[in-house]
Amino acid sequence: MDGTTKEAIAQRVRAVLAKIERAAARAGRSPASIRLVAATKSVSVQRIREAVEAGVRILGESRFQEALPKIEALGARDGVSWHFIGRLQRRKVRSTVGLFAMIHSVDSLDLAMEIDRRAAAAGVRQAVLLEVNVGGEPSKAGFTPSGVAEVVQGLDELTHLEVKGLMAIPPPAEQPEAARPYFREVRQLAHALAGQGLQRVRMDELSMGMSQDYEVAVEEGATLVRIGTAIFGMRPV
Ligand SMILES: *Cc1c(COP(=O)(O)O)cnc(C)c1O
Repeated sequence: MDGTTKEAIAQRVRAVLAKIERAAARAGRSPASIRLVAATKSVSVQRIREAVEAGVRILGESRFQEALPKIEALGARDGVSWHFIGRLQRRKVRSTVGLFAMIHSVDSLDLAMEIDRRAAAAGVRQAVLLEVNVGGEPSKAGFTPSGVAEVVQGLDELTHLEVKGLMAIPPPAEQPEAARPYFREVRQLAHALAGQGLQRVRMDELSMGMSQDYEVAVEEGATLVRIGTAIFGMRPV
């Protein structure tokens, strides 16, 4: 990772933004409706800073332990916000609420209720996305598509939780096109949920697409794409 030069990162950020723009144009969407989230796991503070200097405005961390020192080191910079995108343990909720502008990975009713409770105690409203396990993979977190439909009514009652939409990670595949039916299913699910007459729950955001398949995701309606490798290079294993 540290072999990656600053100019290489700036170039990659520009290339990713250009591809997002072209994918948006193909789908007749405004590029302004899509936000890039740079996935920062295992990336050093210096590299993250370079990405910010290259125009990245949202940083997405999936490892709780890595998040705190990075947020502290980078500080509250103008116009830069942090999203939490990884699996969130219940006992970490208290430190997470209010620190992240959005939590993408709410994968159970229990976790949603804990976030609401902690947000209420902190006097904040926490924006979240509901993670859907579209591929039905046993190894992955998330609600089943029918499970998410069952909980939204209950989530609509929670006054300190702002559900903004859905997040999904399709099953790994060789070809980006393989993800298309899953992305489409997420969009259709969000559309169906948005038609349920909910008061607080919104379905405006779709967090889907990673380095391998973000162009397809944008074509299928993604509003947040979470990209690590295409910006920072391969992660050490
Ligand atoms: C690491 C990670 C990403 C980025 O993956 P890349 O394939 O490196 O772009 C996106 N979302 C989540 C939840 C991640 O953990």
